[in-house]
Amino acid sequence: MLKIENLSFRYGKHAPPVLTDVNLELHAGEIGILLGKNGSGKTTLFKNILGILSPDGGSIRFDGEELLKMPRQERARRIAYVPQDIQFGALTVFDSVLMGRISYFGMRAGTADYEAVEKILCDMQLEAYALRNVEQLSGGERQKVAIARAMAQEPKLLVFDEPTGNLDIANEQLIIEEAKKLAHEKNIAILSSIHDLNQALSFGDRFFFLKNGTIIHQGGEDAVTPTAIQNTFDIDVRIARIENQKIILGGNYK
Ligand code: ADP
Repeated sequence: MLKIENLSFRYGKHAPPVLTDVNLELHAGEIGILLGKNGSGKTTLFKNILGILSPDGGSIRFDGEELLKMPRQERARRIAYVPQDIQFGALTVFDSVLMGRISYFGMRAGTADYEAVEKILCDMQLEAYALRNVEQLSGGERQKVAIARAMAQEPKLLVFDEPTGNLDIANEQLIIEEAKKLAHEKNIAILSSIHDLNQALSFGDRFFFLKNGTIIHQGGEDAVTPTAIQNTFDIDVRIARIENQKIILGGNYK
């Protein structure tokens, strides 16, 4: 569904390359996790996928269609993005989430749109906030609203830049569970960056290790090895299994 081949990108003609020969494939219903140090190129890759930046070389295809040739409106309907720093206008939580459906309803929302928003607010435990102004919420609460809005868009691909960055542990868990449900039940592909490796393991189906703009390891849970982590983050870790779940321990900087 998402197929990136030999993608390269630089921020200006004479600037150094930020992405080099990136190859990444994600199927419908799969959760892909992008792992890499700060500055490794994760956000730049997202912006290429979203069409905010244009690649210098290679291709990004979406269900076989070249992304850059897809009309903007169509791209907006198929791909939802939750950035790290979320800007809302002075809207209520309900209206902010409803805005996620704008490419469906155009001028006026209908009953189906209202019902969809109500269901998402309920799933995300945001009903009590429905009539509050988003600008008066905490950073973590706003992040949940942004995720709810992206869900309301019913995209085919959901791109998350550090979705749990501002959240407490209960909300982290809620977001991960809801996002997993969305991917696995509605067959939506998710591509997300995440810093916490154990959270990444509980969230993802496929893992992409990005180092200096190149994917150096990728694969399923088996690809998450001490060597891959060492090569990507320059830290030594051990991996244990508890109740059949992989757990990453330690982290000595080398
Ligand atoms: P990450 O999301 O992994 O932290 P980024 O994609 O934000 O990494 O950044 C990758 C590299 O591109 C960094 O070296 C960063 O300094 C550079 N970069 C990011 N945005 C710009 C920009 N607008 N202009 C020039 N260089 C940029």
